[in-house]
Amino acid sequence: MLPSDAASDTLQRMGICDGRVVVVTGAGRGLGRAHALAFAAEGAAVVVNDVGASLQGEGHDRSPAQEVVAEIEAIGGQAVVNADDVSDWAGAGRMIAQAIETFGRLDTLVCNAGIVRDRMIVNMSVDEWDAVMTVHLRGMFCPVRHALDHWRAMSKAGSPVAARLVTTSSGAGLFGSVSQGNYSAAKAGIAAFTIVAAAELGRYGVKVNGIAPSARSRMTEEAFADMMRKPESGFDAMDPANVSPLVVWLGSAECHVSGRLFECQGGQISVADGWQHGEVFDKGGRLDPAEIGAIVERLVGAAPAPAPVYGA
Ligand code: NAD
Repeated sequence: MLPSDAASDTLQRMGICDGRVVVVTGAGRGLGRAHALAFAAEGAAVVVNDVGASLQGEGHDRSPAQEVVAEIEAIGGQAVVNADDVSDWAGAGRMIAQAIETFGRLDTLVCNAGIVRDRMIVNMSVDEWDAVMTVHLRGMFCPVRHALDHWRAMSKAGSPVAARLVTTSSGAGLFGSVSQGNYSAAKAGIAAFTIVAAAELGRYGVKVNGIAPSARSRMTEEAFADMMRKPESGFDAMDPANVSPLVVWLGSAECHVSGRLFECQGGQISVADGWQHGEVFDKGGRLDPAEIGAIVERLVGAAPAPAPVYGA
């Protein structure tokens, strides 16, 4: 069987996203492309958003998103291009409206678009800080906020809503990464936003979860060349398509969890357990600065050691 026949065959069986409409941001390459193809293979119609920027977030090019739409159409799926910048308020609004106008509904939003501007903090410019914050944080909030207008209105009108929001954090956001102070802070912000959104949005029928993926893309293939290299034979663990089954399930009506962050690479999935309250010292009154050193020593000694910062 030719690969295209195999893909068409996939589209003919029942998929876990049959009839759903999914927006994937940054879907022109890397992980987003893999997610878009995987959603289409499970029966979803997909808005393939990508501004077509460089890894540092410069420039515009519709062709990566156009190529992914062509790939989806070639296997008999439905997809449209959206080339708006996720961090542009009006552009994000157009992207969400395009899903509803083209396919009649919106079920899932995957916030995946991202850039890097790596630099040691001591050398980092404020522009490098702002660019990363803008794409990752503002570029998540803008589409989410527009999608919520739609889902809340549906919920208030009494229509059933099984909406799903999937965010993209990173091991850098969960544990920190040397030379990525801006990126780590943005990705930690995404993790925090994910649990707050889950707590606020359950009442409207929206489940919210995040991923911290690891896969080969232009973002990682040079920085982690050994880890990301494709093996000559056997399972290609760092293929970005290995992350997509989790994302597709989190974006499907089958997903019954909310407010969780999952690390995912190769065939592995784990739950990242997040910050926890530690042992409490309580004097029962105001502490004196002179007392603090001994108390902190005891508390830090009793606490689990933090996972090491990547690259430290
Ligand atoms: P990638 O560079 O291959 O893909 C990112 C895509 O986002 C690009 O196609 C780019 O054009 C698009 N994009 C950038 N700015 C945009 C904007 N303002 N509006 C719309 N699209 C925009 O990188 P990737 O590795 O596939 O990364 C995808 C996501 O996964 C990112 O959020 C990244 O931080 C995250 N991530 C990746 C890894 C990994 O191992 N690859 C690890 C942790 C987190």
